[in-house]
Amino acid sequence: MAARTASRQGMQVLVVEKNKAFGIARRLCSRLLRLGAGGFQSDIEVTDAGHRKITITIELDGERSVLHLKPLPPDADVRYTGAWAASFNDTWFSPSGFKLHHKPTDDHFTGLIIDKDALLAGMAAECAEAGCELRAATQAVAIEDGPDSVTLELKSGDTRATVRARKAVIADGSFSPLLEQLDFNEGRKVVGVRVKFLTLILDGVASNYVDTHRVKFCFPSLHRGYITLSQYPPGRFQLGATTTTGSQVNLPTVLEHFMAESPYADWFAESKVLGRTGCNMDLRPPVWEPAKGNVICAGDNVAYGETSIKHAMGCGYIAAHAMRSSLDGGNGNAEYNEFWQNSLNYFSKQYRAQIGRTKSIPAVLNDEEADTLFRWLQDNSVCGLPQDCLPDNRNRLYAEMPGIAEKLMGPRDTEGTDRAA
Ligand SMILES: Cc1cc2nc3c(=O)[nH]c(=O)nc-3n(C[C@H](O)[C@H](O)[C@H](O)COP(=O)(O)OP(=O)(O)OC[C@H]3O[C@@H](n4cnc5c(N)ncnc54)[C@H](O)[C@@H]3O)c2cc1C
Repeated sequence: MAARTASRQGMQVLVVEKNKAFGIARRLCSRLLRLGAGGFQSDIEVTDAGHRKITITIELDGERSVLHLKPLPPDADVRYTGAWAASFNDTWFSPSGFKLHHKPTDDHFTGLIIDKDALLAGMAAECAEAGCELRAATQAVAIEDGPDSVTLELKSGDTRATVRARKAVIADGSFSPLLEQLDFNEGRKVVGVRVKFLTLILDGVASNYVDTHRVKFCFPSLHRGYITLSQYPPGRFQLGATTTTGSQVNLPTVLEHFMAESPYADWFAESKVLGRTGCNMDLRPPVWEPAKGNVICAGDNVAYGETSIKHAMGCGYIAAHAMRSSLDGGNGNAEYNEFWQNSLNYFSKQYRAQIGRTKSIPAVLNDEEADTLFRWLQDNSVCGLPQDCLPDNRNRLYAEMPGIAEKLMGPRDTEGTDRAA
């Protein structure tokens, strides 16, 4: 997005991609374009630092569909010709099949799952149309920022080349060695453990549920995290699980057991594993100032996961405008940093307070307790993301199932409020 926008503004742009072609998304991504401003873990709409998130509206028109990034102007629109899978709700299942729904009904889209390879191929084509030079199978292996220009060393097979540019946008995803070389990560400590993800790509999952819902199974005796299932366009499905690196948990075994032996095994009786994808992620704070000198870092390289597809595209657009501003004598870096610092949930005190109120259900409950909790949520028509709806019903949970409530939210505090009551 940065390249296309910069080229349309008259800059001469070179795009390098280390994969052998543009349009290959190797790193695991669940590929949901979620509508609205809600985050991964909470739906609260914050009014402090996270309030300038990029959101998306989708114009569906067959192969001429368009992604509109809000609140950006129409020249940030992106054409999309790939397949879609509709997502009308997220649903958590307990071991015995009690359910928690994100939304009370399935009447509205929560988002659309895309073919990310098609999105990337389309964006590369738009870059070429805009006049960018595109070089695939080319890795940026070294970078140095100087007073007036950035120098990059590129590796393509056995060939090495040095290029110099007035400005550079680095959008190389998590674990970026280039950021290390430029000292952007200085002081950015890993605060948690490293998390690893594994997803199996499947065909033929036999459940109508997955046509309309992204499903998360809470099955503590099998796995102490959620096992997730959703569509994976075109026409496939994704079954995934997460653990920490160094744990004894074997994710392939977890998923195989789930498909073969859980009460949901018949959903997978006819399905085949077509492939697998995975990634690691360090839990660490985002970089506070991703624009400095002649470089702007955009996307996952400066914030784990939270960036998301729509926001990463928005960052690219804003980065190109910030570069233009700097080249025209303005303070583009300050403009970009101001946008960034006001668009991430991580920087929002309101958001962080919201998601810190309960532990993950499969991490602390056993199968029987999970069934009891989910049955209660279902019987009481409670809906929402767990991080929102459990604390919102804390008084009732402490009154009716104190043992479970304490495992999830700690000892009862007399100040606790029950916003849903
Ligand atoms: C488990 C998981 C699930 C997710 N699910 C969703 C979801 O459902 N919806 C959503 O919106 N977001 C989701 N995300 C987040 C989303 O995937 C990222 O935020 C987004 O892809 C970030 O884009 P990016 O361009 O910064 O990085 P990436 O998508 O990682 O792209 C980086 C690109 O740079 C290339 N590259 C890397 N190094 C070099 C180099 N040295 N030289 C040349 N090229 C290089 C890579 O090959 C790659 O093509 C998820 C993330 C994770 C980890």
